[in-house]
Amino acid sequence: MERSENGWPVIESQSDKSLVVIRIPGTGTPGIPLRLQKDCAPLLAYLAGRVHVEVSDLHENNKAGKFQDEGGYNYRSVRGSSKPSNHSSGTAMDLNWQKWPMGRKAMTKKQRTAALLIAEDLEEVIRWGGTYRSRVDEMHWEIRPGVTLAEVKKFIKARGIDKYGKVKTTTTKTQPKDIIIRQCRAI
Ligand SMILES: [Zn+2]
Repeated sequence: MERSENGWPVIESQSDKSLVVIRIPGTGTPGIPLRLQKDCAPLLAYLAGRVHVEVSDLHENNKAGKFQDEGGYNYRSVRGSSKPSNHSSGTAMDLNWQKWPMGRKAMTKKQRTAALLIAEDLEEVIRWGGTYRSRVDEMHWEIRPGVTLAEVKKFIKARGIDKYGKVKTTTTKTQPKDIIIRQCRAI
């Protein structure tokens, strides 16, 4: 079986049953859709919801129902190589790709700090393209190479993330950081 860079099975068709469409929490009704590998979908949607709240509005540059610059599954190679991209296993997503294009640091200092906090909080299972040394890719988030299905499931459960990518409990360890960021933004 062909695998993408992070070790997850490549999915050749958009209609494959291991893909689902999930809406990014907090982006309205029906919300910005992402097509992702079904077991990773709640975790990545949760992450996208946090980027929307803590880093920058994901609706920016979108035309509801017509165009959006957020995406998950995409059957393609890593740009500039023949290796299947993690998008081809549905385990990676791009957020605000017009605003944060690959290859340069386009985030403001505040946005970058907020994104780094999210990346750090989820680093057990997630890797952020904004930390790539060779070719920075701020729009890009993915399941960390080597992280297994069991580890993803365990992490989702431990954080209380539901199938929609929402968290009901208020006891996650990210809380103090979230509060600090929101207070800073309000000033
Ligand atoms: Zn990407």
